[in-house]
Amino acid sequence: MRTGARVVEILHTNERATGVRLASGEVLPVGEKLVLLANKGVLALLKPVLRPQEIMPVTTQMPQMMFVTNPNGKRINHLLGHAHRKLSAKQIPDGTLMLSGGHSVAHTPEGRWKGSLSSIALGLTDAIATLPFIDESSFLKVDASRVETCSVDGIPIVDTPAALHNTIYGFAWTGHGFAIALGFAKYLAEWIVSGERPPALDVFSGKRFHGSFSSR
Ligand SMILES: Cc1cc2nc3c(=O)[nH]c(=O)nc-3n(C[C@H](O)[C@H](O)[C@H](O)COP(=O)(O)OP(=O)(O)OC[C@H]3O[C@@H](n4cnc5c(N)ncnc54)[C@H](O)[C@@H]3O)c2cc1C
Repeated sequence: MRTGARVVEILHTNERATGVRLASGEVLPVGEKLVLLANKGVLALLKPVLRPQEIMPVTTQMPQMMFVTNPNGKRINHLLGHAHRKLSAKQIPDGTLMLSGGHSVAHTPEGRWKGSLSSIALGLTDAIATLPFIDESSFLKVDASRVETCSVDGIPIVDTPAALHNTIYGFAWTGHGFAIALGFAKYLAEWIVSGERPPALDVFSGKRFHGSFSSR
């Protein structure tokens, strides 16, 4: 097992992934299956093997998180959103409020991990308009270091590339990857163990972007 290691290439023969090359040059062999769950990394790794009709309409976003104090000890028990404002407010265990919800920062290939003033201004305006007590908070930090993949229809993509029969990939969680992780983990485990894609995953196939829908 390797952690903190970047995969730079999928090696394959006869329409099967046979190994992955790490940035260090080391090649790790693929056993029965290769499972790609590297969010933004998935498309880059698949690109050399995707057929023209498999190109997927996926964008990347770097949602900005702002952390502010909670001087009056308010409790937010659930993820709060807003019907018309780009806002989500959550509370982390020490009481700190985390404000996010949709204002992304522009990003370059090198990333832009610290957020932007315009996203901060828009985010705080929405947060204070919705929860006025936040005006009494102090600003702690801003973080835009998490890259999320989003599909054009807002639905995740879980599939097998036509050119690699033993490879399963899942990404484009579109801002909902935690909430749905338990369900997807169950179905992915079933798929990996049985070799048969569970019918419940059919609707997440990338084939929905290729003309008339065919699930298999
Ligand atoms: C601000 C914010 C708020 C969110 N709020 C919610 C929420 O309220 N509810 C919810 O359900 N979801 C939420 N999400 C979405 C959720 O966090 C993501 O959907 C989820 O974390 C995706 O998990 P993942 O493991 O697929 O990808 P990630 O957590 O992005 O992990 C992918 C990992 O793969 C690694 N990687 C990438 N390329 C390579 C490579 N080539 N080789 C090796 N490793 C690689 C990356 O370094 C990273 O560690 C939020 C996201 C953000 C940013």
